[in-house]
Amino acid sequence: GQTNAGLLARREAAVARGVASATQVFAAHAENAELWDVEGRRYIDFAGGIAVLNTGHRHPKVMQAAAEQSDHFTHTSFQVVPYESYVALAEKLNALAPGDFPKKTLLVTTGAEAVENAVKIARAATGRPGVIAFTGGYHGRTMLTLGLTGKVAPYKKDFGPFPGDIFRAPLPDARAGTTVANCIEALKTIFLTDVEPSRVAAIILEPVLGEGGYIPVPAEMWRALREICDQHGILLIADEIQSGFARTGTWFAVEHSGVVPDLITVAKSMAGGFPIAGVIGRASVMDAVAPGGLGGTYGGNPVACAAALAAIEAIESEGLLARSAAVGELFRQRFAEIGARTAPWRMWDIRGIGAMLAVEFVTDFTSAAPDAALTKAIVENARKLGLILLSCGMHSNAIRIMVPLTASDALIEEGLAIFETALAQAIA
Ligand code: PMP
Repeated sequence: GQTNAGLLARREAAVARGVASATQVFAAHAENAELWDVEGRRYIDFAGGIAVLNTGHRHPKVMQAAAEQSDHFTHTSFQVVPYESYVALAEKLNALAPGDFPKKTLLVTTGAEAVENAVKIARAATGRPGVIAFTGGYHGRTMLTLGLTGKVAPYKKDFGPFPGDIFRAPLPDARAGTTVANCIEALKTIFLTDVEPSRVAAIILEPVLGEGGYIPVPAEMWRALREICDQHGILLIADEIQSGFARTGTWFAVEHSGVVPDLITVAKSMAGGFPIAGVIGRASVMDAVAPGGLGGTYGGNPVACAAALAAIEAIESEGLLARSAAVGELFRQRFAEIGARTAPWRMWDIRGIGAMLAVEFVTDFTSAAPDAALTKAIVENARKLGLILLSCGMHSNAIRIMVPLTASDALIEEGLAIFETALAQAIA
């Protein structure tokens, strides 16, 4: 049979070095929150393929819907011959998204493409070029989205120049001691020093920073941004690609703030493991683009549309919005216990909303200096013990929880026991 070492050697010879993998084992099979490698070793999956699997690997309803669609056709291109599932998914997303106004949806294939299109739509609707994004934000790896992304290594390094008319503001940060008031002040300074607000098309941010460390943006910040947008005719874009579809206990994480954005970008857990993404927004804004201005060969692939409709149905019928809160509470309790028992003063912060939470590691509590080496050692030890973890954060010193919401408490407890052993080994 195949071995991980054998496949790794082939991978190193054949695959571009720039695409890195968090683990060096190769997948053979996966089911709900478990995965098996080519050597038959079992892993508990707390990474969910980077927040794609809120409904787990191979959810039966998702698999059935994709298989049924595949029996009819797998591709026509919606721009050549349209199909009902694209329309049905748009209807569903328009209904789920916050906002008591008519909405429309565009479907594309990847998260970065959704963000690109949200900016295109905002520019067309406002006739303005400027975009404001935030420190620590992550929006993708294409040129425009790299321009919006607020972390240099490894994403932006060596790839500039990036598109112009992008401006960066800070977000409240416990580590830096910055408050909502400081951040709004900094944003207003951009209007004095860099661009007049009447030239800004959109402000884009994640309701919970994803790659940036699972840091929730306070409701007060959202309300202040909404006010600034309303005052100046700027569109507010919530990037819900990582935070959407029940991860935080609501369909969209921005709902926790009570603020209604003009545009929302979605992807990842929307379709339970199939590549599809989208932009949902105010109909009047979405329709600013003339026919032919939006699209792409694969946008809203029919198999992925069927999978998305089934994944959304599973979230509804299996009560996964409520499940997010229970999963989040379980992790918070256990992390607090594990911290006290095994790593006093090394787990600096446990944060997030619902089941979108992370734990941050420091060298010691007093200095609170980020400990990326400890974080890396925990991830590596856990993998050897049968648990897949993924780190995040500006200093790569947090471990984020993206376990399927369909995982049982027993499986989560099993994973947490491995986490504690991996942590104990890393500190010893
Ligand atoms: N925005 C956010 C908030 C994300 O988390 C990601 C992916 N991690 C993206 C955009 C980019 O999505 P994709 O990788 O599908 O292009």
